[in-house]
Amino acid sequence: MAWDFETEPEYQRQLDWVDQFVRDEVEPLDFVLGSPYDLADPARRKLVPPLQQKVQERGLWACHLGPDLGGAGYGQVKLALLNEILGRSRFGPMVFGCQAPDSGNGEILAHYGTPEQKKRWLEPLLRNEIVSCYSMTEPQGGADPKVFTTRAVLDGDQWVIDGEKWFSSNARYASFLIVMAVTDPDAPPYRRLSMFVVPRDTPGLEIVRNVGIGQEAEEEGAHGYVRYSGVRVPKDHLLGAPGQGFVVAQTRLGGGRIHHAMRTVAKVKKAFDQMCERALSRHTQGELLAEKQLVQEKIADSYIDIEQFRLLVLRTAWKIDRYKDYKVVRGDISAVKAAMPRVYLDVYARALQVHGALGLSNEMSFSDGIIDSFHMGLADGPTEVHKITLAREILKGYQGSDDRFPTTHLPRLRQEARRRYARLLEHEVGSE
Ligand SMILES: Cc1cc2nc3c(=O)[nH]c(=O)nc-3n(C[C@H](O)[C@H](O)[C@H](O)COP(=O)(O)OP(=O)(O)OC[C@H]3O[C@@H](n4cnc5c(N)ncnc54)[C@H](O)[C@@H]3O)c2cc1C
Repeated sequence: MAWDFETEPEYQRQLDWVDQFVRDEVEPLDFVLGSPYDLADPARRKLVPPLQQKVQERGLWACHLGPDLGGAGYGQVKLALLNEILGRSRFGPMVFGCQAPDSGNGEILAHYGTPEQKKRWLEPLLRNEIVSCYSMTEPQGGADPKVFTTRAVLDGDQWVIDGEKWFSSNARYASFLIVMAVTDPDAPPYRRLSMFVVPRDTPGLEIVRNVGIGQEAEEEGAHGYVRYSGVRVPKDHLLGAPGQGFVVAQTRLGGGRIHHAMRTVAKVKKAFDQMCERALSRHTQGELLAEKQLVQEKIADSYIDIEQFRLLVLRTAWKIDRYKDYKVVRGDISAVKAAMPRVYLDVYARALQVHGALGLSNEMSFSDGIIDSFHMGLADGPTEVHKITLAREILKGYQGSDDRFPTTHLPRLRQEARRRYARLLEHEVGSE
């Protein structure tokens, strides 16, 4: 009997330490520092590395990685339980060395990088001495990579890259970008693209704008609109074989999606706790909000949404550990990815509403969460596309019927059952 909803005591002790550490040492950073990715910020340099050191001493650094790459090799279930805490803080993942997109980009380099690239990019990335960027989406379309036009052409022993990318997060802070470009325009759609590692300081690489989210000030934007004009990289900066761009992308996207979901559990739990505290603190018309049935409904609905989502995330994590093959869990990951923005949005919207005007103000973080829920519904593929993937995966397990009526048509089932038990029923009737 293997179903088990308990955490082993030794790991629970680690999680308890993380919970306290994040509350006391990491969450306050969110109020005094800018971007977690801005390694040049002197205040960040002073405050973050000592905390990273403590995490390393505790054996919790880069837990998404196996021991060969300096991680604990905990697997996805333990990582999920950890991320359910780290996601509470913008700096949580960075302090624990498991932040996106560096985690996924590191996986790509670990799989496809040359020994020199691993030395030059992967090792400092894993130590958080540098950060990276994933540059795939283009201004004319992200959900459909078949419309990508950024081109890479081999010229002697160099690839020459030309084109534009959009929403390349953290390009402004990155030391290298992983770029997807068309290498064979005449190949079938999913064999046209290849992946490259491009150092940030390569001539011809220009950040046109740093695009912000929601109400972010212009200078705060971190999503690079990047132009590549005659950008030259050595031949060996191709990751994987030519035309293998999608295969390489899957190396990072499967893990990336579920890790976002694990952190989202942390965020929605945080809003839920705030909602409950408020309901038990605020009076209106002579009674606590917590005593109003429509507020109780918000609390009950949020609890159900969070617990369902959390279990879906944990079971998917368990399946990844079990099968060690993202193809097997494709549908599960899409289910998690599609559920995530709805749960996130609904819980934050309810928490905001229960806080009244204060909830909408910039003195609480609910409106940021609402905007971020759309981030989760777009980045790594829009919800609609994941629902399509999920439905396709599910339907592989079913068959249509040639009959005019469904196999579960009641008259047919009734007739079959009567035929099956005819002799027994006749006997019963006869003996009455
Ligand atoms: C905060 C944030 C960070 C991001 N970071 C990165 C990054 O670091 N690197 C990177 O490369 N990209 C990044 N992206 C881009 C992201 O991957 C794209 O936004 C996403 O793939 C959707 O592409 P699009 O925005 O061009 O929307 P479009 O492709 O124009 O789609 C718009 C909408 O059309 C609908 N739609 C699309 N396809 C279908 C379909 N098949 N069926 C039904 N409806 C559909 C959906 O509602 C979708 O939201 C980021 C996005 C956000 C919001």
